[in-house]
Amino acid sequence: MNLEAWGWNSSLKENFNIYESQDLIPGRIVRESRHIYTLVTSGGELSCEVSGAFHYRAAGPSDYPVTGDWAAVRQASEDQGIIEALIPRQTEFSRQTAGNRSDKQVLASNIDSIALVFGVNGGRNFTESGLERYYTLARHSGAEIFVLLNKADLCSSEERQRAVEQAEKSAPGAEILLVSAITGEGLENFPQKEGKTIALTGPSGVGKSTIINALAGNELQKTGHQREHDKRGRHTTTSRELFQLPSGALFIDTPGLRELQLWGEESDVESAFEDIRSLAAGCRFSDCSHEGEPGCAVQKALEEGDLDERRYTSYSKLKKEMRFLKTRQDEQAARAEREKWKDIAKIQKEYKKQRQ
Ligand code: GDP
Ligand code: ZN
Repeated sequence: MNLEAWGWNSSLKENFNIYESQDLIPGRIVRESRHIYTLVTSGGELSCEVSGAFHYRAAGPSDYPVTGDWAAVRQASEDQGIIEALIPRQTEFSRQTAGNRSDKQVLASNIDSIALVFGVNGGRNFTESGLERYYTLARHSGAEIFVLLNKADLCSSEERQRAVEQAEKSAPGAEILLVSAITGEGLENFPQKEGKTIALTGPSGVGKSTIINALAGNELQKTGHQREHDKRGRHTTTSRELFQLPSGALFIDTPGLRELQLWGEESDVESAFEDIRSLAAGCRFSDCSHEGEPGCAVQKALEEGDLDERRYTSYSKLKKEMRFLKTRQDEQAARAEREKWKDIAKIQKEYKKQRQ
């Protein structure tokens, strides 16, 4: 198999060089199910597990392979291998794990572009704050960002124009495309480049599955197994998967990517709200919280109507959420540290007892 078609490039190759002398080969993870990973390699598909040394080195769940990762593999038989190491991820798309803990869960890696999908039928599925949240999340990944305003076929020309204007303000720097997954309108403007990896996210009901089906057409490249179809013959994903589109572009679909919990850092909010960041450069205090300090350029812009109250509220909310996430992570780390010392104290006590 031609690895370039699966996204292999010179910088990955450079990072792989150290493994070449160890008789390892490069492969990309296209599927994962219960710690069994399917990889494409130049010789075909391999079914792999990670090595003992890999387990030993892994500090946490995010060190384990995910769909999209490139790995250094020891081929064990014609169709089996052992993953010895991961080649450093060039981009990484993560969310916060479900439940009470604030851990990072990597959903997909080495994606080149990410599409944020919203439905614009009369504004029902599209809110500016919703887009701002997804945009902040996407900024953390390092991938190129597209906003797909879907269901354009249901919109009047005024509605279309308004949606585009709102999206341009809420996601400055992203490419905004009006599309219809049903009529196919506008989808041709969504760049599909051979060997480049695309992912897509957005709220439910906006048409993500319909878009995937439109992009995939009926000629989905088979990567050695049959894709699943639901009753209406549509492709559905039950596990994480990377596949080739008819265009030669690659598509990562993981169920967790479809809806997301915020993950990232305060700096991602800053970068998603460039307009506010550049206003903040004019604040008197460099650590201004823009919540009432004297000489605050952000408050001034709000008063003078140069900054939208709604956008500012959305910004503050996302900043607070990121701060909360950080606090929880710090608490978790502190708790883990305390547990560790408790264990050590216990061992010491046992040891003393035995010596008495
Ligand atoms: P998902 O939850 O984001 O995957 O959304 P689906 O792909 O399941 O679509 C939700 C509903 O919207 C379905 O009834 C689709 O037929 C409909 N839909 C999706 N895209 C379009 C579109 O471009 N135009 C119209 N009119 N309906 C669409
Ligand atoms: Zn300020």
